[in-house]
Amino acid sequence: MKYDYLVVGAGLYGAVFAREAVNAGKSVLVIDKRPQTGGNVCTKDIEGIHVHVYGAHIFHTNEKKVWDYVNRFAEFNRFTNSPVANYHGELYSLPFNMYTFNKMWGVVTPDEAAAKIEEQRRAAHITEPKNLEEQAISLVGTDIYEKLIKGYTEKQWGRPCTELPAFIIRRLPVRLTFDNNYFNALYQGIPMGGYSRMVDRMLEGIPVRLNTDYLADKEALDALADKVVYTGPIDAYFGYSEGALAYRSVRFETEVLDTPNFQGNAAVNYTDRETPWTRIIEHKWFEFGKDDQGNDLPKTVISREYSSEWKPGDEPYYPVNDAQNAALYETYRKLAEKETKVIFGGRLGEYKYYDMDQVILSALNMAEKEVVN
Ligand code: UDP
Repeated sequence: MKYDYLVVGAGLYGAVFAREAVNAGKSVLVIDKRPQTGGNVCTKDIEGIHVHVYGAHIFHTNEKKVWDYVNRFAEFNRFTNSPVANYHGELYSLPFNMYTFNKMWGVVTPDEAAAKIEEQRRAAHITEPKNLEEQAISLVGTDIYEKLIKGYTEKQWGRPCTELPAFIIRRLPVRLTFDNNYFNALYQGIPMGGYSRMVDRMLEGIPVRLNTDYLADKEALDALADKVVYTGPIDAYFGYSEGALAYRSVRFETEVLDTPNFQGNAAVNYTDRETPWTRIIEHKWFEFGKDDQGNDLPKTVISREYSSEWKPGDEPYYPVNDAQNAALYETYRKLAEKETKVIFGGRLGEYKYYDMDQVILSALNMAEKEVVN
């Protein structure tokens, strides 16, 4: 049988597009080269804990449409992300807020904190921030930049902060209030039962072929459908003809520990340059919220994250949106425009540092454009 759509990649973009297309009466086949669905939001049960296998994912959005949409497929808990920064054993609250400023400078009021930031910004002579370093100093001052941003960012991106775009640091809020919520989002939570279950519910009743590598068998797979929705890396689709785009990859060292509570929080960021990992995730805290007894689970699962430059054979996680790669992506995007039967979507297909809600919104919009008349 010939399908209307072949969806390449069973992650969030692919699953949402497939669901919407099927609901609109189209036939869809989903394929994925991995042995399971979920893309990088995939979760696995280890010791009764839903482990985020390809990195921590905290769902947050300001879009009611997206929040309502995901709630059709999962019930969300009330998890609020409040990571802790560990700089050589000194702990600071994130995102940058009055608790952080108090610990860093001893300031007590918002006015004192604002004055301190202003003093450091002036001393650095920054008027219009041109890169991540200048942007960070102008937002939070030199001390916080040096202790909580510089080391983490250079480990995470493998590049000096002066060569990275300013927008990356603007993902983090700066607040003159005592609010440790990492996100400025109306809606936030973790799907109870894990992300994989949520994605599988999206894919219910839709044929999925796993362990199927699209690019390795492109011609035969293309013949199965009128149109293709491709969510893999855009440069890989074109055989890297214009050169390889840069991605950051992550290696996870996951351990089961015989203790109910390793670090007392879901995320601890190691912001000094010397600690080789960027952060440690303790997965149980995504689910059991504020239960400091670990919900009587005697064990815990932690993942240390090590960031590295992507090379063939690695999993790509983050697009490196510096000027050079943005220009290279533009040449691929022009090639993609000529592929009239292929839609490129998602973090890898559009080479964009998308959050989950943005991926879902973009898949919903594309589905609306394509299949809803
Ligand atoms: N960042 C930082 N220190 C931190 C956390 C984040 O300097 O403790 C910077 C870093 O450059 C990072 C960016 O802020 O890449 C965005 O952080 P976010 O937590 O959004 O990254 P993600 O969770 O997507 O890896």
